[in-house]
Amino acid sequence: MSPSAVSRSGPNRSAEPGAVAEDPSDSSASPFGKGGGGLGVRLRGVRGLWRPYPVEYKRGQKKRGNFDRVQLCAQALCLEEMLTVCIADGALFYGRTRRREIVTFDHALRDETERLATRMHTLHREGRTPVVPYDSKRCDRCSLIGRCIPKTTGAAPSVEKYIRLALAG
Ligand code: SF4
Repeated sequence: MSPSAVSRSGPNRSAEPGAVAEDPSDSSASPFGKGGGGLGVRLRGVRGLWRPYPVEYKRGQKKRGNFDRVQLCAQALCLEEMLTVCIADGALFYGRTRRREIVTFDHALRDETERLATRMHTLHREGRTPVVPYDSKRCDRCSLIGRCIPKTTGAAPSVEKYIRLALAG
């Protein structure tokens, strides 16, 4: 993820959504921090307010599930909390298809992300590791496969599947 400050708002720029007028008397500017009244962050040596714009690079292609959008939204929520700023959208870039998908952090996506984060915290607190079945399409491209080792630790295959695999063998 690169929380790059690519979207500029202010001073007095009305072309950008969320544009705000900068208060030159505000001395709260920091290298990358608060002080923009929720509309942007100030960068040392640069005038105006800058909106963090999370961009997540993925090697593969767009997936059917909502995983990537939830991951990006979680990054945005962290940045919003850290910087006291509102982030309306971000982007996913897929290397294989060389396509960019703009993701809007709407209520539904924020709710889903928060629900999953709460569940993750609960599992962590209880010391439980969720058992997820190995799925070659999903897991073989996952950067966590070396740590997750789903073939070993994943949900036990059914007897039918085990026999089928053994006979195919
Ligand atoms: S390797 Fe683990 S974390 Fe990655 S997709 Fe498979 S089950 Fe999920």
